[in-house]
Amino acid sequence: MRILASNDDGIHARGMRILVGCLTALGDVFIVAPDRQRSATGLSITMHRPLRVKKVKIPGFKVTGWAVDGTPADCIKLAIEDLLEGPPDLVVSGINLGPNLGNDILYSGTVSAAIEGAINGFPALAVSLASYSSEDYSGASIFLKNFLPVLAKGGLRPGTLLNINVPATERPCGVKITRLGSRRYVNIFEKRVDPRGRLYYWLAGEPVEPEDGAVETDVEAVKNNYISITPLQLDLTDYKAFDWLKHLTEAEKLL
Ligand code: MN
Repeated sequence: MRILASNDDGIHARGMRILVGCLTALGDVFIVAPDRQRSATGLSITMHRPLRVKKVKIPGFKVTGWAVDGTPADCIKLAIEDLLEGPPDLVVSGINLGPNLGNDILYSGTVSAAIEGAINGFPALAVSLASYSSEDYSGASIFLKNFLPVLAKGGLRPGTLLNINVPATERPCGVKITRLGSRRYVNIFEKRVDPRGRLYYWLAGEPVEPEDGAVETDVEAVKNNYISITPLQLDLTDYKAFDWLKHLTEAEKLL
């Protein structure tokens, strides 16, 4: 099995090394990741300057690593097109430090690296540690080592895209298959004055507790200390609105 691994926290992130440790028993691992922290870059790609690639050693591992001065999506594209010796059987992004839940996945570099894999027709996983403060990857590591062979045995279909969030604890309460919840933030921007008297804004914000009744969501699962696995699809079409718009416009003269 040929596995492509990436991490939007950068190739030297601890979560990257922990992920590689979970993958090596499964097959040949190739790391292609940004050379620095590139979180919250979404599915952004680099078009207006060249990309530089540097071969790097990951301490403690024999795997091949390339550091790219681009985004997570750039890394996956480059890996598939040129760096790997053949198409990957699986793309894994993570383990990200910080949750990727609900609509936040649209900003996420971690999830976007997996999306880029799925766009190219490969099975892909995004794995995140649902904490910024604790760096306890033990539960995530145990889970991945058990889950990946199960997934491989079950037959990974092209384009399968899973978003996984693991509580930062050695013993999560269990595993839940979830749908995307919604995440809203309060106090989104901090407004400050710099030493030269000029105003600046800094994006921060705290998530608002999910509304009651939102069951089976990723947000709810992680809040209750469960591992959340959300199967994603790339089709953003609103099919209800599709029918409604068709019906609405059918008999109208619009041109
Ligand atoms: Mn990140």
